[in-house]
Amino acid sequence: MYVKNNPAAKRDPAGESDGQVVDPNCPDLCARYIKDGCDTVEGGGGDLCWGGTMCPCIFPTIFPSRPYFGRFQLKDYIPGACKYIDLCGLIHETNHMKDQQPCQKIGVYRARWKEGVNDVQLECIEVRLQIECLRSYIAAPGVSGDCRRQMLYLIDLEIESAKLRHCYP
Ligand SMILES: [Zn+2]
Repeated sequence: MYVKNNPAAKRDPAGESDGQVVDPNCPDLCARYIKDGCDTVEGGGGDLCWGGTMCPCIFPTIFPSRPYFGRFQLKDYIPGACKYIDLCGLIHETNHMKDQQPCQKIGVYRARWKEGVNDVQLECIEVRLQIECLRSYIAAPGVSGDCRRQMLYLIDLEIESAKLRHCYP
């Protein structure tokens, strides 16, 4: 599983999600979904339903229309390029799992929110946690310059989008 490859990471997505267990096949299922040409959107993650199994996934993030953001030149993000971006994103998506409808046993699709959940508020909570998570790893040993730059602009991007939704600070 993803986190087992990161002994330095103290945040285990499964461990921070009310006992939410992530299926060990999820990294493979997410990778297959991406390979099959999943929709790539700014935002970079989601919960996937695959034949009844729910998986938190990080998706490629493509910036077709805005190559620059603040101080940074945005680069497309491919999962696996920066382990802390993946880790903090996976915590975000894993925390959402309990608020999604159970996956149907057939098909591959994005999980849907349970009836009546306040998804705007849930998004606010998770985005703030994700920003904190990224900040906590900015100075982690072994983070490359490229990885750090991508973390910094992702933090800025998340803050901007949280402000637009009136949930930051
Ligand atoms: Zn979210």
